[in-house]
Amino acid sequence: MEATIARDAKKIVIKIGSSTLTSPDGSIDKGFLDSFASQVKELMDQGRKVILVSSGAGAAGANTIGKWSRKGDLHYKQALCAIGQVELMDSYRRTFDQYGIHIAQILLTKEDFDSSQRTMNIRNTLFTLMDEGVIPIVNENDTVSTDEIKIGDNDILAANTAVVWGADLLVLLSRIEGIYDSNPSTHGDAHIIPMIEDIDSLEEKLSLADPESTKAGGIKTKLKAAKLANKYGIPMIVVNGKIENVIKRIAEGDIEGTLFAPHSK
Ligand code: GLU
Repeated sequence: MEATIARDAKKIVIKIGSSTLTSPDGSIDKGFLDSFASQVKELMDQGRKVILVSSGAGAAGANTIGKWSRKGDLHYKQALCAIGQVELMDSYRRTFDQYGIHIAQILLTKEDFDSSQRTMNIRNTLFTLMDEGVIPIVNENDTVSTDEIKIGDNDILAANTAVVWGADLLVLLSRIEGIYDSNPSTHGDAHIIPMIEDIDSLEEKLSLADPESTKAGGIKTKLKAAKLANKYGIPMIVVNGKIENVIKRIAEGDIEGTLFAPHSK
């Protein structure tokens, strides 16, 4: 079943985390981006459609100006995101251009998803871009979304995007390999769970076994994103973004991470 879900997916939202997109020095990993773009091109040639949700603006901003001297300062962080967003889109534009693909930037906030009028506008823009074969690249509008009023993080933004578009698969490229049955940093025998259908009971089990495990590596927001996507019948995969040809492999049904499958499937 796991293989079929990914192989049959025609409308795919892919979220790229900062750690996948950037090298350890904070610069955008051109090698990753080039390979990623060629895999997305392959999907498009197969008649599939792709929307990207990309993090990395903060990291790219810090790398661009070569300093992060006031990293605790919220306004400074927002300024870095504003700088980095340009670098991010410039890198995506240059890379996808080599494959003859145009990209579009979409910056969203929590209020946009709270309002039905705005949500409809987002939906219409996404559909129009898809009709034209353009790849939308979504990020949170960090200038106006401070911590207190944030969507949460880009995992949740990606789930919201998948719901609004009516995607049939959501892929989170992450620094983690998947969801473990216990916290891998404290349990040497922790295993990745290949498929999860009941998120609630998993959450309960994880917090009973080890209260830290639901917090580690952003797992909490991944479970929240999965709940949202699954609620609308959209399967979600969490996988390590640095795996070679990760997108191509998923599209062929070869999944190494964790698949959250909606109950009805
Ligand atoms: N919008 C932030 C950025 O591009 C990332 C938020 C997140 O990864 O959750 O740096």
